[in-house]
Amino acid sequence: MTMRVFRNATIHTGDPHRPQVQALAADDEVIVATGTEAEVRAAVGPGAELVDLDGAAVIPGLYDAHIHTASYARERSQVDLRTARSLEEALAAIAEHAARQRPGAWVLGGRWNSNAWERPVQPDRHALDSVCPDRPAALPSIDGHTVWANSLALRMVGIDRTTPDPVGGQIVRDEHGEPTGILREAASYPLRDLVPEEDLADQLLAAQEDLLALGLTSLHDIDGEDCRDAYLRLRDAGALKLRVLKAIPVEHLEAAVAEGRRTGDGDDWVRTGPVKLFSDGALGSHTCHMIDGFTGDEGNHGIAVTPYDDLVKLIRTAASAGIAVATHAIGDRANRLVLDAYEQAGPAPGLRHRIEHAQHVRRADIARMARLGVVASMQPVHCTSDIDLVAALLAGHDHVSYGWRTLLDEGVALAFGSDAPVEHPNPFVALHAAVTRTRTDGTPSGGWQPEQRISVGEALRAHTLGSAYAAGEEHRKGVLTPGRLADLVAVDTDPFAAEVDAIARTQVLTTVVGGQVRRQRP
Ligand SMILES: [Zn+2]
Repeated sequence: MTMRVFRNATIHTGDPHRPQVQALAADDEVIVATGTEAEVRAAVGPGAELVDLDGAAVIPGLYDAHIHTASYARERSQVDLRTARSLEEALAAIAEHAARQRPGAWVLGGRWNSNAWERPVQPDRHALDSVCPDRPAALPSIDGHTVWANSLALRMVGIDRTTPDPVGGQIVRDEHGEPTGILREAASYPLRDLVPEEDLADQLLAAQEDLLALGLTSLHDIDGEDCRDAYLRLRDAGALKLRVLKAIPVEHLEAAVAEGRRTGDGDDWVRTGPVKLFSDGALGSHTCHMIDGFTGDEGNHGIAVTPYDDLVKLIRTAASAGIAVATHAIGDRANRLVLDAYEQAGPAPGLRHRIEHAQHVRRADIARMARLGVVASMQPVHCTSDIDLVAALLAGHDHVSYGWRTLLDEGVALAFGSDAPVEHPNPFVALHAAVTRTRTDGTPSGGWQPEQRISVGEALRAHTLGSAYAAGEEHRKGVLTPGRLADLVAVDTDPFAAEVDAIARTQVLTTVVGGQVRRQRP
């Protein structure tokens, strides 16, 4: 048992009865006292370890209700050169990426397109060595037919001036006959074979550090069963530092039912979440399911990805086995059909069904969402990313887009997340988007459809307690009061005191999960 007192802070508890305190005590993982420092120290007695938070503002740990951590972890473990506009930009991206990898790890990814660079040049190993001398690098081009390797990678695979070109391949050489580091077609295969298959658990461990540094202490993972296995292994090894609610992919529903998996099972580190269903596609591809057609494409109403009768069947199968349902629905028709299906499938006592994204919804359906107790799991940054798209494709439609204000006023439970890696996982950018409905550069000035803005307190609540509620964990997380988990973050910008535009630039100083400092800003 370790008793810790977190002191010298402005702690925003999220508890309306006592919204602000100066100190908080945690016995092991759980909060046992909050108040003034004198009150807290009197409550816990002598012998507690003191953690000085240097006068920082503290908020409950942020909780991402919709994130694909396996995809995020895989992407972050590779460098992406698709957007580099010159050799110099590509090298800068490689240097930054390499610095974040563990010593000796391969630098992988690439997808560079030297034809699109301002000055199209064929890159070589010397350029790569200049930013990445001490770890092997093997970076395929955008079409995958060429690999750009550094000197260390060539040495490891045994390619030098004496190596002949293989059948169906070319080792590009300079005027002295030395390999330049460019390997075409079959010449790249030995190098590709040498690259180790990365373990998802290792990738998640590295991703976890990013997420903790952003102030996230819990998440709902929407990726597959391999991701669940990896998280369970990390938990069993004591390596998990943030808490995971793991969704079940629809393809795995039957197997999950057969093994008796139920939403809420597990412990505070890894818990079973809802099954994830899809009812439509996305706005950008004209595949979200709409009551009216898209502007300029009026005959097109999008796509019902799962037929309605199947939706009802799947909901019944899940709910009767104790598994909650989270259904992706972006268009107003999709949202309406999902509500119809939840209603037709019948009550699911103890389970909180949800709609993922709930982006474009008719007002009448928002009232139904409240009445049916369906949680809206939304991603504020999708709103600011989609402003132009909505204007172009849904102008004049009679629905509410990213209607946080209306949803809250109608009494819908709101949970916030990022949908990373579709968007960046930074929750402070999400809070800023929810409060201002502007992009981080301040556009459009005054906010897009500003009547749907919500307050800092409401946005923060959706990103903490709201996500906990969606998971049925509202008595465990989301508010800093005795009896709940000591999951909290100290930040350099007090969201309740700062200018709203500063919220997006918030830096997390300390991340505490289960009463332990898991990440400290260097
Ligand atoms: Zn998603």
